[in-house]
Amino acid sequence: MSNAYPSSLQLHIDGEWIDVGDRDVHQVINPATGQAISDLPKANNADLDRALDAAGRAFPLWRDTPVGERAAILHKAADLLRERAPEIGRLMTAEQGKPLAQAIGEVTASATHFDIMAEEAKRCYGRVLVRPKGMNSFVKYQPVGPVAAFSPWNFPVFTPIRKLAPALAAGCSIILKPAEETPASPIEMIRCLIDAGLPSGVAQVIFGDPAQVSSHLIASDVIRKISFTGSVPVGKHLMKLAAEGMKRTTMELGGHAPVLVFDDCDLEKTLDLTAAQKFRNAGQVCVSPTRFYVQSGIYDRFVDEFSKRAAKVAVGDGFADGTEMGPLAIPRRPSAVGAMAEDAKAKGAQVRLGGERQDGNGFFYNPTVLADVPLQADIMNDEPFGPVAVMRPFDTLDEAIEQANRLPLGLAAYAFTENLRTANIVGDAIEAGMVAINNLTVSPGDAPFGGVKESGHGSEDGPDGLKAYMVTKAIHQS
Ligand code: NAD
Repeated sequence: MSNAYPSSLQLHIDGEWIDVGDRDVHQVINPATGQAISDLPKANNADLDRALDAAGRAFPLWRDTPVGERAAILHKAADLLRERAPEIGRLMTAEQGKPLAQAIGEVTASATHFDIMAEEAKRCYGRVLVRPKGMNSFVKYQPVGPVAAFSPWNFPVFTPIRKLAPALAAGCSIILKPAEETPASPIEMIRCLIDAGLPSGVAQVIFGDPAQVSSHLIASDVIRKISFTGSVPVGKHLMKLAAEGMKRTTMELGGHAPVLVFDDCDLEKTLDLTAAQKFRNAGQVCVSPTRFYVQSGIYDRFVDEFSKRAAKVAVGDGFADGTEMGPLAIPRRPSAVGAMAEDAKAKGAQVRLGGERQDGNGFFYNPTVLADVPLQADIMNDEPFGPVAVMRPFDTLDEAIEQANRLPLGLAAYAFTENLRTANIVGDAIEAGMVAINNLTVSPGDAPFGGVKESGHGSEDGPDGLKAYMVTKAIHQS
């Protein structure tokens, strides 16, 4: 199999694959080399109107397709995605930078979401209420309608499939706009659905100017639901647009995950797990473990040992053998991460490892560990979204919880302790949508995934993720 990336890409609208033609173009860049590798057509307003019209026509047909048939198409698409994972993974590494094994693993893990939602949809039971003879009241769940979904560049297949799978399983049509920076792998995911027999117009993929596309789609009467994964400011902007039409939203926004490390934890296991996970996808993960609060008795040892492990992370081109961490995915990220590290240093943080980008054309930023970081440093307040761990000591359980909850964000949180009482209190007291204790697994696929506070609202995955694409209706009969 070759590493070839197509020199130009296509939109998929109303059952047709559409070339660049006379459209504006976005150049796709390989972040490991900084070189342009492909031309991506940007949808114009006529394209968007055509996609809206097709989504509107496809919705009633797909809604009325028996759930078993919908599920069979999703299972078939999951099989195709697994079969094609090595090729799709290569596209992803070329456009996003992550190591090839991680890219292939992302595609394979994503396929599971089609399987899970195919089965969830069959069991989306309503209720029959108790009524006198001759009367009936039913509660039914019905698909919300055509969906507009916007997904980011850090997980080009995993983030959109969390929207596609439940929307399609529920019986909705969907227009997906993945990030322009990482287009080919989500295009291939849509191709799997089409090759599996998904009817025309049910799932479409477009790219363009993000602000123009989102405002155009959200303003349309056709669209009944918006789902977005990305930054808090963009999420707030899209919610304002959605409010104009009272449209439902699911918002998966940023996090700044605290990691509470208590002195009774299994230290070696904690270090091995957290140091490996921090640098996965170069830290560009909304649930990446980032704010390490370590109990005073083990703080110095933890910082030393974590830094030693981080220093061994092999950074390089995602296609090279042995690479464990690739470049940052988009050109603006190394300077954004670098500015946060410099700010922390200027305010008194100790740079225990890294703290600099690499020379060359790629967007590489070295694994970085900052210790004794003051709370007023930007990086203690804004998500670095890069390969940086920040560390501070704490003394008491109450102090640890207070620090974990001090930000207006609440996506994932982690704690490491062998004490059951501490684990129980932490699980209940941390303000986050997901808390993992003695592990870092927060996206198993069958459990709700989502945030509280400014990290967003609504859950993806599992039964809650399916219901996000349904409306609840009561029918009273006498
Ligand atoms: P950004 O705010 O410019 O964009 C975030 C995402 O939203 C991108 O995918 C972008 O294409 C999309 N977007 C931007 N404006 C849009 C609009 N008007 N309508 C629809 N989509 C729009 O940020 P960025 O520089 O790309 O990334 C930096 C920050 O974004 C990170 O620090 C992180 O907090 C956040 N982010 C979060 C996730 C996540 O998984 N929650 C993923 C990627 C980025």
